[in-house]
Amino acid sequence: MTKSQENIRVRFAPSPTGEPHLGAMRTALFNWLFAKHHNGKFILRIEDTDQTRKQEGSLENIIKGLEWMGLDWDEGPKKGGEYGPYTQSERKHLYSNAAKTLLDNGHAYLCDRTPEELKLMRETQKREGKPPGYDGFSRNRKLEELEKSRKEGRPIVTRLKVPKNGNRKFTDSIRGEINFDLSTIDDFVILKADGMPTYHLANVVDDHLMQISHVLRGEEWISSTPKHILLYEFLGFTPPNYVHLSLLLGKDKTKLSKRHGATSILEYKNSGFLPEALNNYLTLLGWYPGENQEILSKNEIIKKFNLKGLNDSPAIFDQEKLTWMNGVYIRQSSTEFLTKIFHEELEKKLPNTVKRPVNKGILKKIVPLVKDRLKTTNDLIEYVDFFFLPPTQTDHTIIQKGVSKEETIKILEKTILMFNKQEIHQNFVTENIEKYLRNLIGTFELKTRQSLGTIRSAVTGKDVAPPLFDTLSILGLEECRKRIKNSLEVLNKQN
Ligand code: GLU
Repeated sequence: MTKSQENIRVRFAPSPTGEPHLGAMRTALFNWLFAKHHNGKFILRIEDTDQTRKQEGSLENIIKGLEWMGLDWDEGPKKGGEYGPYTQSERKHLYSNAAKTLLDNGHAYLCDRTPEELKLMRETQKREGKPPGYDGFSRNRKLEELEKSRKEGRPIVTRLKVPKNGNRKFTDSIRGEINFDLSTIDDFVILKADGMPTYHLANVVDDHLMQISHVLRGEEWISSTPKHILLYEFLGFTPPNYVHLSLLLGKDKTKLSKRHGATSILEYKNSGFLPEALNNYLTLLGWYPGENQEILSKNEIIKKFNLKGLNDSPAIFDQEKLTWMNGVYIRQSSTEFLTKIFHEELEKKLPNTVKRPVNKGILKKIVPLVKDRLKTTNDLIEYVDFFFLPPTQTDHTIIQKGVSKEETIKILEKTILMFNKQEIHQNFVTENIEKYLRNLIGTFELKTRQSLGTIRSAVTGKDVAPPLFDTLSILGLEECRKRIKNSLEVLNKQN
């Protein structure tokens, strides 16, 4: 029997032992989606009982990652809730109570083997070709003997008395029934010598006390589940429903690592990815929405999300595909939204010589010109910095391929003259600029690309820039004139 499916309560239970990586964030996302779809609760629980693996800053980064992805929790750190505290190191008494219950009902026992003795035991097992694992040395020893040992200062742990034979099974929502032979499980530690619980005990006690209905976690935890099933049984608790999510692999089908691109969610944040795109992409890694649809908003995903769509074959993470999807999200975003995030980006990245705050009015005009070209917001700066900062020019940055210096000077001088015409002077807008410039370059014996390229590089200093006539219009007549004059000075100076 497992927990009722009515009151959906799920949890994301990270250990603060490293960066918030993609696999963990996908687990968090699936839990969050499941809770949202069912109007349930999403709980954040910090599993920090292994103090030796704890990493400085890890918890803060996990929280930052979740917040950035918009995976808000209903109960947990910073938020509280009626089942708290939500950090395991603050719940020690609950685990020692559970261990005591197991000792009292004969399902656990104390053991005083030192780490050195255990090491020796494993070496002997290896030498004799026996399967590795705890040999049950203290299983039938008297409690008084072990209490005496404790007084003598030996490290005392509590181990679960795992039945020597028989089976246990559980139903996984994705994989169906999974059966385990108990003879393959040794008497594992539930409470360590320092009084801290192991992952197994703390996880079970908390899932029970926090009334977790479904455990959605990575496939790598399947082998731990029979241990958990035994703990539920011996503690008299009802286990939750299990959903083990498929592995996340790189394109070469090996475990996802740095070789396949950034693995921390915060690296994506800092490289100009939109959380909406990342959420969308991660959702498709192991879950099938039902139709061949790839671009789905968060609300659509919430509406469609169900356990039936999850599958057990490994999901392949493809950074190129994610980058493509990010570009789609940028293109689909509104000018208002992009102006806001591009503004933040430019405030951060433009040199200090550019006046702050960065001009939002101009940015708003630039956004429609550049948004189709960007794959990440990080690409923005190289396309648009010249709007805010006049380029540093040399002959090399101005003169186009196949155009002589003399021709370049002529094009620029004529452009300035044309800018002086009243018709254009008074109406310096895209269509008008285009009309006059096209007329002008018709008089040169050069390709359109070469003539317009000369004007573009004289104004922007770039080989690639947003559409020229719009660019000139946004910069305004005075600024264009100033920049072309400056380019002429550069060209003439080196004559
Ligand atoms: N603390 C475990 C982890 O770091 C949680 C596993 C589980 O969800 O049971 O992934």
